[in-house]
Amino acid sequence: MTTRYLSQTDKALPIPEPPVFDTSAQQRDHDKHMLAAAVRLFGHLGFDDGISGHLSIRDPSHTDRFWVNPFGVAFSRVQLDDLICVDAEGSIVHGEHPVNPSAYAIHSQVLHQRPDAQAAIHCHSANSRAFGALNVPLEPLDQESAAFHENHAIFDDYAGPTTEPSQGEAMARALATNRAVLLRFHGLITVGASIEEAAYWFISFERCAGQQLAARAAGPIHPMTPEQAASAHTGFGDPRLAWFNFRVLLQQTAAKDATFQAD
Ligand SMILES: [Zn+2]
Repeated sequence: MTTRYLSQTDKALPIPEPPVFDTSAQQRDHDKHMLAAAVRLFGHLGFDDGISGHLSIRDPSHTDRFWVNPFGVAFSRVQLDDLICVDAEGSIVHGEHPVNPSAYAIHSQVLHQRPDAQAAIHCHSANSRAFGALNVPLEPLDQESAAFHENHAIFDDYAGPTTEPSQGEAMARALATNRAVLLRFHGLITVGASIEEAAYWFISFERCAGQQLAARAAGPIHPMTPEQAASAHTGFGDPRLAWFNFRVLLQQTAAKDATFQAD
């Protein structure tokens, strides 16, 4: 990871440091707060679709467990106490709601195979589903899409609704070391070192997919050169900028919805 754009030039962005916590309990409280806020923000953005869609964070002390939004509760209604904690066998160890079997199949495998990732997100959002029909990667058509340049993959082995961990394992293998994997005929997965980062990558990928659908429909596309894409990637692809971008998005939502808190 490079942070040259953010901290090693005289034009560095004045981005605050992410919070550091003394105890796992404090980290967990923060993560759950951000997870619930992210789920509601995704509801505002229209990324849920009935029972489909789940956002997770790894538990800071029991690292084979994850917290996730429950099955059957609309994104826009999820509160802190609705979150559930699921162990490596799929049992609910905290919370009253049931877990979506698809959430267990995907998140347990992605978080297991990506120990660097603390958060994972999967939704059936509209632009990613439409873009997946093209079976092409995002091109670096603008600075935002350059964040995914050589940092996303396409999963092309659809095998029906996701109910088995083996399906999630295959998706995690396709994700590899990338920050996003586009699931053909299905949706999108993103990961990050925090729920804030993973959520911003998801929002940005979804918007990039919409932009690229529009550009491709309008006429021939003309991507950046590899050098331009690499240059844009050092700034717009920085995980810390993604973390901060999400915090800014939360501020906007908090201004319109009293259930949100930016901090
Ligand atoms: Zn799905």
